[in-house]
Order: sequence, then structure tokens, then C-alpha cells
Amino acid sequence: MPIIDTHAHIDQLTDCGGALKRADAAGVSDIVAVSVDLASMQKTADLAKTRSRPRIHPAFGVHPLRAVGPIGPEAGMIKAQESLEAQAFMRAHLSHAVAVGETGLDYWYQQARKDEAERNRQKASFLVHLDMANEFDLPLIIHSRGAWGDCLAMTRAARVRRALFHWYSGPLDILDGILEAGYYVSTGPSVAYSPPSREAMAHAPLERILVETDSPVRYNGPQPFDAEPRDVLRAWAALSRLKNKDEAIVLDMVNANAKMFFKI
Ligand SMILES: [Zn+2]
Repeated sequence: MPIIDTHAHIDQLTDCGGALKRADAAGVSDIVAVSVDLASMQKTADLAKTRSRPRIHPAFGVHPLRAVGPIGPEAGMIKAQESLEAQAFMRAHLSHAVAVGETGLDYWYQQARKDEAERNRQKASFLVHLDMANEFDLPLIIHSRGAWGDCLAMTRAARVRRALFHWYSGPLDILDGILEAGYYVSTGPSVAYSPPSREAMAHAPLERILVETDSPVRYNGPQPFDAEPRDVLRAWAALSRLKNKDEAIVLDMVNANAKMFFKI
């Protein structure tokens, strides 16, 4: 039975052609291909046009750790220019995308925790994405690491209708807020071993969970590996075990969730 990887950075795969072939052979029918900056959006758009198996559904956005704004003297001006070009690209291409993303906030690193200007820069970029999701009637793919509460508050305040908190591993009370707002969460293969991932996915109902890989990220579990889209099967198997449900039932559910969420 086919399965959908709802979050992969295929433009960053070292052997994209090989990885897509292996994904196809493993039964991956569709990949939601997220992007992180202007160059990544351009590459992702090209790949979506030229590759047909698995089906590639692009999402366009700027990652919070790539979010740039009009700050500082010279470097800031160059970055501000790129930020405007990224927005122009999104405006021109979002009608062919299935989502806005990946976007959001990341307070995981010391710099953002200490530096209010950095947090404000990320928030300004996230606001642009929230507005575009509404304007183009698209769902949002949100990176919320260490910034779960602010991400939820801003998404709700913007009255975005469809939002996915990708690779959710945050607190359960914020997860309750996400679910109450009608939003979704996703998990990758870390649901096999990571306590925060497992707690969150045990708490969320299957009706609101999507599976993904975030490839080509490295998973540092008991048996570390570099993920590619076919590894979405690991996420599915581990989620089935965690939920103590038949794998076929879980697959039906996560596929239905992904199709409804992304309208694919
Ligand atoms: Zn990602």
C-alpha cells in the first residue's frame, strides 16, 4: 500500500535521483517537498516539475533559521534584498504549491534564546508566511522547536485554518492547544525511541497525525542513520507500535490525513 512522506528536503539530498528511486520501490507514492530559502525554493520547484515518481508536491517558504530581515549595516542590506526576492518567488509560485513552508520559529539555540532581535526577525518572517497562507488558502508547515507556544499563539491570532506542527516534540499542554484549534502534528522515525516524540504522539489522536522523514536529517537513535524519504516507513511502523494498532489501519489513517490536509 502506498505511503506519503509529508516532509522532506529533497533539494538537500546528496543522491536525490537514487533516493527517489528507492522511495518509489519502497512504496512511497507522494512526497511533500519543503524548502528553506530562495535557492532551495527554486531547486524544489524544478525537481517538482521534472520528477514524477514519487509524485513531488512542493511547499515554498523560508525556514526560521534562514529568516533574514533589514538588520545591521551592509550584510543586513544584502539579506533584506534576498528576503524580498524570496517573498516575490513565493507570491509567483504558491498557486502551484500544496503548502507554505517550512516556516515558523526556532528558539532552540542559545542565540535566539538570548537575543530578542533574532526572535523578532523570525517573528517578522513568520508573519509574512501566515499572511500568505491566508491569501493563497494554503496550509502552513510549521517548525516550532523551542518556540511551541509562540508558534501556536501567532498561528491562532492570524486565524490560519490549516496548520501542521511538524516533528512535534513539545509540551503536552501546547499540544492540547494545537488540537483544540483543529491543527495537526507530524512525526518522523524518532517516534521509535525519542521520549518527547513518543509522549506527544501517544497523546495526539491518530486522526491528527501525519508521518514524515525531514530527510536528509540524521537520526541519532539506538541505530543511527541518515534519513531519506523511504524511511517514512520506519515512522509508520514505530507509530503503529506506539499506538498498539494494526499497521494497515494506521497507514489508512495517516494517508487519509495527509490527503485531506494537503488536498492531494
Ligand atoms: Zn524540515
